[in-house]
Amino acid sequence: MGFLSMTRNIAQNLFEGPSTRRYPAVKRYYEPKSRGMIGIDIEACIFCGLCSKRCPTGALTVAKDRKEWEIDRLRCIFCGYCVEVCPKKCLSMANHYSPCVTDRGDAIHLEKQAPKGTTEQPVEEKLEKE
Ligand code: SF4
Ligand code: SF4
Repeated sequence: MGFLSMTRNIAQNLFEGPSTRRYPAVKRYYEPKSRGMIGIDIEACIFCGLCSKRCPTGALTVAKDRKEWEIDRLRCIFCGYCVEVCPKKCLSMANHYSPCVTDRGDAIHLEKQAPKGTTEQPVEEKLEKE
């Protein structure tokens, strides 16, 4: 029985394609409802801080005085609570993950609201969390 099973596996492996994906040449397909990267429309944010209070992993930091919103993507577990609780509906969840990083600091993403009356929309990647 074991021999037959092994022979079948060998035959399958010989004639079927590899089970692995030729990444990065072949991209992963994400189902439309996959939970992934959190994004923000920073201009709609009112810095109420509800998202950071609701976040179970402490991935979010909101600074009302500096009009900054920050996410530590390595702490995010894609629960979606922040998206649900946001009163301005300015948070969203993409159906794909954020790009891989090799430096811990690159996982921290900071967004800052432009001062009122300007068209500038500064978006910064914070390299080191203080
Ligand atoms: S809950 Fe929404 S409006 Fe409030 S700080 Fe978070 S992103 Fe901004
Ligand atoms: S999806 Fe969950 S873990 Fe990720 S930032 Fe939002 S509340 Fe925090």
